[in-house]
Amino acid sequence: MCDNVKGQSDHAGKTGATTSVLRVLPDDRLTRQHLARAIAGSATARELIARVEQLQDCVLILRAHPLLTEQEHLLGRGKFWVVRGHLYGLLEYQAEPLGSYRAMRIINHELAHALEVGLLPRGTDTASLRPLVLARENEEARGPVAGVETEFARAVGYRVQLELQGRLQSPSALSTVADDTHLALGTLAAARLPSWMHASEGQ
Ligand SMILES: [Zn+2]
Repeated sequence: MCDNVKGQSDHAGKTGATTSVLRVLPDDRLTRQHLARAIAGSATARELIARVEQLQDCVLILRAHPLLTEQEHLLGRGKFWVVRGHLYGLLEYQAEPLGSYRAMRIINHELAHALEVGLLPRGTDTASLRPLVLARENEEARGPVAGVETEFARAVGYRVQLELQGRLQSPSALSTVADDTHLALGTLAAARLPSWMHASEGQ
């Protein structure tokens, strides 16, 4: 789910001095481990994260939420704000143990939402984002909860899961999925991963 209606703007702090687009809170070791596995086992996840990392004027926080399903009846959600042209996103997924393919699917699903939103020609405030996000909505894909669902996010999440399960082994399918869902990815300048990832791999 992708929910961009909140008006807050003060959630981007407390992430240390990193300049990475994609950030994980210091105490969230589980998320760093999930991401390391996604990068190790899925070409599509690697490209997804590299493309997220080259988004302009964008800060995204990915975090494990232990009670997302219990409290919100969701496996994952993304909230986005635009403040003076900068995009801030909070991506959450139901915390599940390392090795959970479902957690991997949801994490990459939410990252795909973030890439979609980050590539939109955003204006200066959050209100400018909503019609652009709605234009990418796939109403048939939407479940019983509020929010915008997109075919791109669904397809990317499932694709990464299949690659991690060893059921599909090929180069990244991100461009194919983007073409199929009419998302213009642009060029991938350099396959750069968030700087903190190199230091935390294998932990
Ligand atoms: Zn979604």
